[in-house]
Amino acid sequence: MTTAPLILLIEDDAQTRRFLKTSLSHRGWSTVEADCGKSGLAMLNSEHPDLVILDLGLPDMHGIAVTRRLRQLSDLPILILSARSQEQNKIMALDAGADDYLTKPFGSGELHARLQALMRRVTRSLGNQEIFETGQLRVDLTRRKVFVADNEVRITPIEYRLLGILIRHAGVVVTHRQLLQEVWGAEHIHDQHYLRIYMGQLRHKLEVNPARPRYLLTEVGVGYRMAIDDTE
Ligand code: CA
Repeated sequence: MTTAPLILLIEDDAQTRRFLKTSLSHRGWSTVEADCGKSGLAMLNSEHPDLVILDLGLPDMHGIAVTRRLRQLSDLPILILSARSQEQNKIMALDAGADDYLTKPFGSGELHARLQALMRRVTRSLGNQEIFETGQLRVDLTRRKVFVADNEVRITPIEYRLLGILIRHAGVVVTHRQLLQEVWGAEHIHDQHYLRIYMGQLRHKLEVNPARPRYLLTEVGVGYRMAIDDTE
């Protein structure tokens, strides 16, 4: 990337905006700011940002409505900010098309890790990735083969589909609903036990210690996240 990525901050709290702006500029990212949903949506067209950070608690519009509108207008990565009391809203925003979330309060390390994963996802979807690697896990996406420490692991078609979705979103959370819908179809979006069973099987095959997974991470109450190597 030749120019610094531009991030649109939609957040009504001036203190949080200041914190975001400062920690993002330390990392070489530029920002533009909006203090409500309406002006945020307007800036999407006027500023052409590369990514949006959206607070769910805005004075003029519901965060989920803003998410839906952003999704209608663009494919930009959306990172939502939510308060602990907004657990359900957070999940709804993810299902409405937001890509990942941070729960307030968060530190700049966490913020940066999320943004890196989101930007990487954008870069990855442009190129045609054939091999996914994290730690000892290697997945050949062309031949649909999975290896752990160079040993091939046999996985079932359903396990492979689950794994494939998580890899496509590597580093980014994928909600229970998204996974259930993509693998089993819309009529099964409430069958969370499917996920527990199949993720359990996958962990037994891929993780050194399935009880303390390193690759297939649980986001309690939200979904799963494929870990990525920090060193890149
Ligand atoms: Ca707020």
